[in-house]
Amino acid sequence: MPELPEVETIGRALKEYLSGKKICKVNVFTPRLREPLDSLKNPELLGKKVLDVRRRGRYLIVELEDTFALLMHFGMSGVLKTIPLDVPRAKHEHVIFDLGNNESLRFECPRRFSLLKFIKLPSPGATPPELDKLGVEPLSDDFNAQYFCKCAKKRQISLKEFVMDNNVVTGVGNIYATEALFNTRLSPLRKACDVTKAEAEKLIAEIKVILLKSIASGGTTFSDYRQLDGSTGKYVLELNAYGQTGKNCPNCGKPFASIRQGGRTTVYCPECQK
Ligand SMILES: [Zn+2]
Repeated sequence: MPELPEVETIGRALKEYLSGKKICKVNVFTPRLREPLDSLKNPELLGKKVLDVRRRGRYLIVELEDTFALLMHFGMSGVLKTIPLDVPRAKHEHVIFDLGNNESLRFECPRRFSLLKFIKLPSPGATPPELDKLGVEPLSDDFNAQYFCKCAKKRQISLKEFVMDNNVVTGVGNIYATEALFNTRLSPLRKACDVTKAEAEKLIAEIKVILLKSIASGGTTFSDYRQLDGSTGKYVLELNAYGQTGKNCPNCGKPFASIRQGGRTTVYCPECQK
């Protein structure tokens, strides 16, 4: 699944590639992904120039002229590709945007959990109302210990599930939650409401460091994740705990524990993480 750093990286590359280009034609080959693709057949989309590409959580907003936009979410397996228009369509390319000059942008998604929608924005530069419920951006100053403790008040859920709650903070996936908890020696089993302000500060700082490191490395948390031009990541984030089931803690040498929380695997060290 493309995580926040991947989406940030794709968004930056897409902005560079698409800015100033026009959407000449749209070919839709599938009735629906997560939602129907009917909005892409709106003739208002045609001839619109791309003004900006920005990220909110794991969504990309491709802003077009006249306060229109394309809203994208890559789901489990969504990929954007820039390919000459005359290259034959591959099996899972559901939408092909003709950008003129034999250029095309293609949305590929074998598992079809992604989202692609043509929408109207409330004003230029605005966040679409569809994303109103998303929590704060993890890399923004809004994600701080005061905010954390305010949201965590009376929350009985585990600390791990709390930091992965998109309504609190958006885009902190399993990898980043697992790693940040391990690196700050905080147990994923702690109740969110019991975390002190000082602990929250430490955890938040670590989440930001890991996300920024991952973005700086090209957003390639996974070696198999493809960039816009089809190349794969050249660097994989060094992971201390995530995916280390069956191995020993690099800190104390005792075996990692592997449990399920909120339907996701958590790897942690019962010895080091309190
Ligand atoms: Zn340990």
